[in-house]
Amino acid sequence: MKYPRTIKKYCPKCRSHQTHNVALYKKGKERTLNQGRRRLERKKRGYGSFPKPIFHKNAKLNKRITPLLECSVCGKKRYAQSHRTKRIELHEV
Ligand SMILES: [Zn+2]
Repeated sequence: MKYPRTIKKYCPKCRSHQTHNVALYKKGKERTLNQGRRRLERKKRGYGSFPKPIFHKNAKLNKRITPLLECSVCGKKRYAQSHRTKRIELHEV
């Protein structure tokens, strides 16, 4: 799928249409010492099976890719509608 590198969209902060720079949303780095991670590490210690179900029956073939729009005037970021595609390509218009 092709997606434009710049797009003109409504900005809720400027309350008008502005050009937005498009980037692709990437998941941030997971913190190693948050409560859920500490609890899982404690549960995984010692004998016994893995404490959480491991999902195997994955029916979906493609991941959702979310474009991230940044207003070129005020810098507010917001998400655009995401699409299930194998790959997404940013191109100049
Ligand atoms: Zn704006």
